[in-house]
Amino acid sequence: MAHIKRSIILKATATSMGFPSHAVHLRYQYRKAISTRPYNARGKNLVRCDACLLAKQFCTCGSRRQLTSNASFLLIMYDDEVLKPSNSGRLIADLVPDTHAYIWSRTQVNRKLLALLNDPQYQAYLVFPSEYAQPGQTVVEKVEPIGPCSAGVNKRPLFVLLDGSWREAIKMFNKSPYLHSLPMLSFTPETAAKYGLRKGSRDFQLGTAEVAALALGVAGEAHNAASLNAWFALFIESSMFSRSRKSTLDRTPLNQLTYAFHQSLHK
Ligand SMILES: [Zn+2]
Repeated sequence: MAHIKRSIILKATATSMGFPSHAVHLRYQYRKAISTRPYNARGKNLVRCDACLLAKQFCTCGSRRQLTSNASFLLIMYDDEVLKPSNSGRLIADLVPDTHAYIWSRTQVNRKLLALLNDPQYQAYLVFPSEYAQPGQTVVEKVEPIGPCSAGVNKRPLFVLLDGSWREAIKMFNKSPYLHSLPMLSFTPETAAKYGLRKGSRDFQLGTAEVAALALGVAGEAHNAASLNAWFALFIESSMFSRSRKSTLDRTPLNQLTYAFHQSLHK
């Protein structure tokens, strides 16, 4: 009897956010555990939710939903990126069920990460600007959508994203030869514009979640791209509320963005 009770309690804890922990949550817990000192984020005195890293009163975990997607993601995260409340890579893992995440190491290549890249069920694409392609590296602008309509193509696209500052992403790319043999998926300005993003001076500062939305778009999942962008918009607004010293009693913008996200799921 006691045994049964305990298993019920454990189950309740795991699903208290609506969904079980995902890959980025697990990397966060690991990275936090091995840190010798707390991560010094802006607004470090805030009491944050341990899952979405927003201030507790603006936690969005209860609004999280999972998408149905034929795409998969692999986030290769730079060192303490996973600890940063501003990191948007976690938003991908929030929504896309098959999202993997590993912390990058210059000296050691994670064997599980390599196994994933070589897994025959996936076709991996490194999402990166084409001007950085190595000699001989294939650059593509499109991805074959998979699903019942695309006969003969049955590999899931695995979008590999280098998650860190732009400088860190270039470093990860340059120092990881296993990324140089992957086809590189690069977006044209037209693609970026189609999904509501300007490719210009801000180009390289696109949030990781915005880049992922572009990838979903070119994979033929415009509806999922829209949902991820809506989830990102809610995250940005909630982050600003979290940091704001002003009165944040009026939650209208947050309610509207939450509503927009949930509406996007039914389109
Ligand atoms: Zn939360």
